Amino acid sequence: MIKDFFKENNIEFISEVNLRDYNTYHIDSKALGMVFPSSIEELVTIIKYLKENNINYKFLGNGSNVILSKEYYDLIFIKLDKLNNYKVEGTTVIVESGVSLIKLSLDCAKLGLTGLEFMCALPGYMGSSVAMNAGAYNSSIGDVLVSAKVLNDKLEVITMTNKELEFKYRDSFLKHHRDYICLEATLKLEKGNPEEIYELMAKRQTKRIESQPLEYPSAGSVFRNPEGLFAGELIEKCGLKGTNINGAEVSQKHANFIINKGGAKGEDIIKLINLIKEKVYDKYKVELILEQEII
Ligand SMILES: Cc1cc2nc3c(=O)[nH]c(=O)nc-3n(C[C@H](O)[C@H](O)[C@H](O)COP(=O)(O)OP(=O)(O)OC[C@H]3O[C@@H](n4cnc5c(N)ncnc54)[C@H](O)[C@@H]3O)c2cc1C
Repeated sequence: MIKDFFKENNIEFISEVNLRDYNTYHIDSKALGMVFPSSIEELVTIIKYLKENNINYKFLGNGSNVILSKEYYDLIFIKLDKLNNYKVEGTTVIVESGVSLIKLSLDCAKLGLTGLEFMCALPGYMGSSVAMNAGAYNSSIGDVLVSAKVLNDKLEVITMTNKELEFKYRDSFLKHHRDYICLEATLKLEKGNPEEIYELMAKRQTKRIESQPLEYPSAGSVFRNPEGLFAGELIEKCGLKGTNINGAEVSQKHANFIINKGGAKGEDIIKLINLIKEKVYDKYKVELILEQEII
């Protein structure tokens, strides 16, 4: 029935999708389906259909901040990969939600636009990263975003200002209202020198390669840094580096990363997370807060 609807409407759909390649932990998991709208109109058609038929759905960006805890999801993942255009008007860049942050930051560097250097190693898409106010090096999306085009809970396309999006550290209005979907972001950048921008990006990338286990599947930092402390340092001092549960391992290179050494399931990652939380709390009385989202 679902398959027929998408076929009739000429919308790309994968039935019984394997999610391994759609999450950066490379967790093996399956779902009822995955759908790829190519316009906002198609997206609205899809959501209306799913709601009318009581079919659950969940948006997925590049899957670089999620832990797939189930082996099977009885829901449809909606991917906005086809909404992946952006346009540049002077120092303003209007970016659709399926644009890769890494590509955008490199393209803007080439154009001599500064402000997105912090994004050059963030493997997320624009829309999801607005919701999570992704950032690095004391900068985040909320610092450069003027406004966003959002699909609200009534399926109306509205514009939300920076203020209305209530950006905080790795947090925004959208993160607490999952039925509000970011469709497009308008960013305000500044003119800069391409060589200097590239140089800064290259320096940061080298530092990341040295300090983070980028050679293994992961979803970046597992915990937020507690105020004035470093989560990685606390985990390391508890002697947890290298702790492994069925392939999910606390990285030897950076203790705030859990890597998939092969075959780890979401439940193994969650067990390891709970173990880390327990040990850090026992030793330091600090409650670590998860930065990744368990689906
Ligand atoms: C090696 C590595 C390094 C990383 N370094 C950093 C870092 O330095 N800083 C940092 O902040 N993050 C970092 N991350 C985490 C991650 O890349 C970011 O959080 C990124 O913003 C997540 O984007 P995504 O597209 O992968 O989102 P996903 O993980 O696919 O989704 C995240 C959430 O957003 C929701 N969502 C999806 N699309 C939309 C939409 N259009 N509108 C609203 N909600 C939506 C999803 O339903 C989900 O709840 C890192 C990850 C990795 C693997």
